[in-house]
Amino acid sequence: MNSAALQALRQAAGPDYFSQDAGDRLIYAGDGTCFRYPPEAVVRARGPEQISRVMAACGKYHVPVVPRGAGSGLTGGALPVAGGVLLDMAGLNRIKAIRKRDQVAVAEPGVVTGELQAAAEAQGLFYPPDPASAAFCTLGGNVAENAGGMRAVKYGVTRDYVLGLRAVLPDGRLLKTGGANIKSVVGYDLTRLLVGSEGTLAVIYEIILRLLPLPEDRATINAFYADLDKAARAVEGLLASGIRPVACEFMDGYCLKAVESYAKLGLPPAAAMILVDLDGPPEVVRRQSGQVETILQQAGGEPVRVAGDRAEAEGLWRARRAMGPAVYQHGPGKLNEDVAVPLGSLAEMVRRAHLVGEKRGLVIPVFGHAGDGNLHINVMHDPAYPEQVSQAHQAVSDLFAHCLSLGGTLSGEHGVGTTKLGFVGAEMDPVGLELMRGIKKVFDPAGILNPHKKLPPPEVLP
Ligand SMILES: Cc1cc2nc3c(=O)[nH]c(=O)nc-3n(C[C@H](O)[C@H](O)[C@H](O)COP(=O)(O)OP(=O)(O)OC[C@H]3O[C@@H](n4cnc5c(N)ncnc54)[C@H](O)[C@@H]3O)c2cc1C
Repeated sequence: MNSAALQALRQAAGPDYFSQDAGDRLIYAGDGTCFRYPPEAVVRARGPEQISRVMAACGKYHVPVVPRGAGSGLTGGALPVAGGVLLDMAGLNRIKAIRKRDQVAVAEPGVVTGELQAAAEAQGLFYPPDPASAAFCTLGGNVAENAGGMRAVKYGVTRDYVLGLRAVLPDGRLLKTGGANIKSVVGYDLTRLLVGSEGTLAVIYEIILRLLPLPEDRATINAFYADLDKAARAVEGLLASGIRPVACEFMDGYCLKAVESYAKLGLPPAAAMILVDLDGPPEVVRRQSGQVETILQQAGGEPVRVAGDRAEAEGLWRARRAMGPAVYQHGPGKLNEDVAVPLGSLAEMVRRAHLVGEKRGLVIPVFGHAGDGNLHINVMHDPAYPEQVSQAHQAVSDLFAHCLSLGGTLSGEHGVGTTKLGFVGAEMDPVGLELMRGIKKVFDPAGILNPHKKLPPPEVLP
């Protein structure tokens, strides 16, 4: 960035919101991946007019801009890979309104997801999207990634709750999409286009979210299985039963071993664990708990436990929640993929992941959201050994090939970012990709907003 660009940016942002400090550049260089790209400057977002001025200045000097929420993304979406400006949205963190009668919340993008969940709950309302990072990720990041999480089986993902957006376009214009209406079919659905656009089409500065009434009661059940097929049968049986669980989580034997070694919870040795959450009126939850217990037992679950109260339920969830740090018991490095496959291919995908691990000499623990076919596949390795790193990357290519051959998708919720760019062409229809490039051009003709993300350049297509 030349000095004229820097000066224009400082003026557009306001001197108190602009920084080239080495510490800031270091802090904003990384995200939830292991990669680091320091930006040339950091702008702290203050509001739409300021963001608009910043975008206009960046457009004039052709400076890349990368929006960032909490930086918890797992595919490099918030990395300033082309340098330029890191636009920190975390300071725009007001919940502007919770409108009980309309059952909507209006919030700025820097609001931490868990804080919105708590604020809604305080009013007897419910914001269902629940990524495992809810304690620290932001609504803006959730919208940009279309984040999923534990409750997606019953309640869907972030996209299902976004009713309207307010955003700044790359040329500085302000855009309004949608509103507080549950239904609207006027014009093309730009709200849904922006959800999941990974910060490549517009900078979101306000979000209108749908809320639901808070469920009255909850129940948690877990079951352990001696082999994968029995666990898969349990999931299939549950989903075919007509009961819609809130969550239906899966952990394989490698995960259970890692959690036991890390957290010492007294888990029985097993090839798989299934964890189910239900909610609804107390009498329905009670009846369905019994039915789920029977389904899990009939599939071969041993033992099967129904939590007696919330404290016990939290105890059952502890194994799943410990998974993030526990997985490192299998190695100091991790390539974290989040493929999704059709429900009937769940066990086959897990089996193939284990075979890839054997072939590459690596441990590949698998856990995830079994109820919607979304598996977190962790390729563990030691970055100190280049051969292991190379095997780990080849394992990811193998896994993607298996996933696509089963009719799956390369990402269920983490997005493409930069880490999956090289594989997108293997999944996407070329005509679809061409249209998507056209959409990017319409929103961002100069290509300054979060460049080199989401869509591969033509030269990396197979
Ligand atoms: C321990 C852990 C558990 C996780 N569990 C889950 C899970 O269960 N489900 C799941 O879906 N994800 C999960 N994630 C991934 C991550 O938390 C989500 O992708 C989350 O939505 C990212 O939010 P963020 O605020 O950290 O966004 P960032 O990482 O800062 O940014 C993510 C993307 O959003 C864009 N962006 C951010 N704010 C804006 C804005 N205001 N306008 C436009 N673009 C913007 C960025 O440019 C980037 O492309 C997990 C991550 C971790 C570390």
